[in-house]
Amino acid sequence: MDPQTVPGFLSPEEGYALAESVRSTREIAGVVVEIGAYCGRSTLYLAGALTTGALVFSIDHHRGSEEHQPGGGYDDPRFWDADAGCVDTLPSFRANVRASGLEDRVAAVVGEAAAIGRVWASPVRFLFLDGGHSRRAALQDWRVWSRHMALGGVVAIHDVFARPAEGGRPPHDVFTLACGSGLFAPTHRVGSCQFLTRLGASG
Ligand code: MG
Repeated sequence: MDPQTVPGFLSPEEGYALAESVRSTREIAGVVVEIGAYCGRSTLYLAGALTTGALVFSIDHHRGSEEHQPGGGYDDPRFWDADAGCVDTLPSFRANVRASGLEDRVAAVVGEAAAIGRVWASPVRFLFLDGGHSRRAALQDWRVWSRHMALGGVVAIHDVFARPAEGGRPPHDVFTLACGSGLFAPTHRVGSCQFLTRLGASG
């Protein structure tokens, strides 16, 4: 199944770059985590790049980000659960992972990423950061999850725009914060997907 048939906001170039980057961290001890899955487009790129036996932990509350709420600009009535009175992308996510034959490589973790990150205990070799894009949510996810990164591991932050006119600032602010910390260094950017490496694996 072509991941681009899944509703979402990741371009093919960004998806291929994610897959290639996941492969580049194969030798590092640690797990693959994504924050913000929506209907699973990015999940399919990440899981498709895994070796047998490896997992992507896909974290999302599946209630939609701010922009996915009714009137939010990116709302999609297909994912409105009338009984619950809220967005629910989990059924679509599950169906897409199943249809792609990747269920054995995807562990869906349903809940708030920051709350989960506070009790997380495994080193992360690859982190795809695409959760809530409000300033508060983006910074909170970063504070909680950046400390789990394995040395030499890779972080990919989605929706990093050079110019404010192109999109919201919080992902770019997280990128700036990461570089300023002295713990991460930028490597490359594909589309709006900014890649960084956790320093300290050598030197
Ligand atoms: Mg995004």
